[in-house]
Amino acid sequence: MIVVNTVLASEQVRLTEAEIADMFRATLLVNGGCWDYQGGRDKGYGRVRWNGRLQYVHRIALALTLGRPLTGHALHRCDNPACFRPLHLYEGDQADNNADRDSRGRTATRSTGNGRAKLTQAQVDEIRRRYVPGINQWQRGNRAALCEEFGMSTSDVLWLIRTKAVRAELDAARRDR
Ligand SMILES: [Zn+2]
Repeated sequence: MIVVNTVLASEQVRLTEAEIADMFRATLLVNGGCWDYQGGRDKGYGRVRWNGRLQYVHRIALALTLGRPLTGHALHRCDNPACFRPLHLYEGDQADNNADRDSRGRTATRSTGNGRAKLTQAQVDEIRRRYVPGINQWQRGNRAALCEEFGMSTSDVLWLIRTKAVRAELDAARRDR
């Protein structure tokens, strides 16, 4: 750990997801496909003291994955601020950050509304992309969380993810990992 941390402090070495998971394993909770940070948080984002100052965990994880300090924002593909899984993060500029926040606002409004939500194609694509199937009773998938977030019943999402085409997509995505 000490060796790894010394290397990491420079932010000049690219780490794999497994190495980052190992670094933060004491504060990592696997939540569907997400890695939820279990330590201190600020507005939902995990935060730690790093290189002498408080920094966001997801920014650190992304910088270490890229092997360089970030020049822009560290944005979530998964809309889960606590998540620091590099696969769910990307670097974007201020415009991306605003678009991201806007889309999250719409999602929040939707999920608190009454009745069945009508999803846009983009949202359907997002659900398909983010869906993580459960393996067993201990490793549950994120279907319930996605349903809640998008204001859908579980049967709606089941319908989305059980189509042949989506299954094929999911299988292909898994093979690529
Ligand atoms: Zn995530």
